[in-house]
Amino acid sequence: MTSDTALDLSARDRRLIWHPFTQHANDSAPIVIERARGASLFTPDGREILDLVSSWWTTIHGHSHPKLNEAIAAQAAKLEHVMFAGFTHAGAVELADALTRKLGNGLERVFFSDDGSTSVEVALKIAYQYCANRGEARRRLFVSFEHGYHGDTLGAMSLSRGSGFFNLFEGLMCEVKTVPFAATYEGDAEIGIKEDRAIEALNAVLVEHKREVVAVVVEPLMQGAGGMRFCRGRFIRRVAELARKHGVLVIFDEVATGFGRTGNLFAFERCGVAPDIICLSKGLTAGYLPMSVTVTRNEIFEAFKGTNFDKALAHGHSFTANPLACAVALASLRLFEEERTLERIAAIEARHRAALPRLQAHPLVAKARVLGSILAFDLVSAPSGYGRPGYGSEHSRRLREWYLAHGFNIRPLGNVVYLLPPYCIADAELDRAYDGLLAGLDWLGNAG
Ligand SMILES: *Cc1c(COP(=O)(O)O)cnc(C)c1O
Repeated sequence: MTSDTALDLSARDRRLIWHPFTQHANDSAPIVIERARGASLFTPDGREILDLVSSWWTTIHGHSHPKLNEAIAAQAAKLEHVMFAGFTHAGAVELADALTRKLGNGLERVFFSDDGSTSVEVALKIAYQYCANRGEARRRLFVSFEHGYHGDTLGAMSLSRGSGFFNLFEGLMCEVKTVPFAATYEGDAEIGIKEDRAIEALNAVLVEHKREVVAVVVEPLMQGAGGMRFCRGRFIRRVAELARKHGVLVIFDEVATGFGRTGNLFAFERCGVAPDIICLSKGLTAGYLPMSVTVTRNEIFEAFKGTNFDKALAHGHSFTANPLACAVALASLRLFEEERTLERIAAIEARHRAALPRLQAHPLVAKARVLGSILAFDLVSAPSGYGRPGYGSEHSRRLREWYLAHGFNIRPLGNVVYLLPPYCIADAELDRAYDGLLAGLDWLGNAG
């Protein structure tokens, strides 16, 4: 493809397409990507952009991996799709089997849907109806955390009230109480106190709304879109124990943290506690196709059985358990073994840690933090109008554009800057990323 074609595509895109999370009045034209390999995206004229946010956190083994490509091609030649009510296929069964084995902890029943948001909607509906089916109709309230983010559909938005993205939609939302999240960073001396306060606040809500709460929904170890806020595993354990003491279901949204992001295959493994319901998406299909799962304990599933349809779960999508998506998800799980992916993630974590002192020495960097494959920090003394939620803030946009112009796909979340690379990223590419990260901060310091 010539650059002329790219220019043409870009112009036609601007005429025809409405992009996600984009202010079209002031955003620059989208960059045309023609192909991708490993950690790199390539424009039609051959310019390389390091994909340091794994294309919205989905690409885990790298772009266009030969084995994943092969798995999809082979599946397409056999069965591209079949409706999933009244039918099944080997890919869905094998994937459910592999996932439930890896999850363990009684998480044994798999419901398929299409993306992270729908996996959360399904979890909400399952939890709500589980209470109703058991005759606990007073339970209609959910509890989520400040800065939590669970997706863009109505139920998921309601849980994401504390993220600041959705204030306009308040009138459409369902009932949710939001409590503090004990976020931490390297060298945080106050974390113990913050955890105690957050747990007290959660306890107060659960006591005040005794027998009214359906479930507590939390992103274990890391709140993603709400600002890459990490917490300690023991905090999540205390949250789950407290919820259970009050007879409330525990839902872990591992849409972002699942599949190795935080160092273990699932973040809950580092928390010493498992949920009643878990949501998985993003890395599930290694960034190839939209699919998600909501996995529950069998006891929850059993409560949906009855002699008429009323007790059944009224939910399903056209593309539920799409065979192509199942095939690539299975191939991705095999890659974790074949390529010893978790060891590679540990190496990325070690390299991030080694880079920390350099970052921490920069005058614009505060609260630097590392977790698994993720490195994040806050920008110091954000100019006015630049603090949270500030997703669309001018500085954030300009920094993003500076990084793109210099070959790095880095997308600050307001004043939070982070790297979240595909696990295939090479050491040399990581070093390039740290250098680029710092160069962008120097530019911002001088420009500001
Ligand atoms: C991205 C994300 C979602 C929403 O997933 P989509 O696929 O974008 O709908 C939900 N929860 C968490 C924790 C996420 O990071």
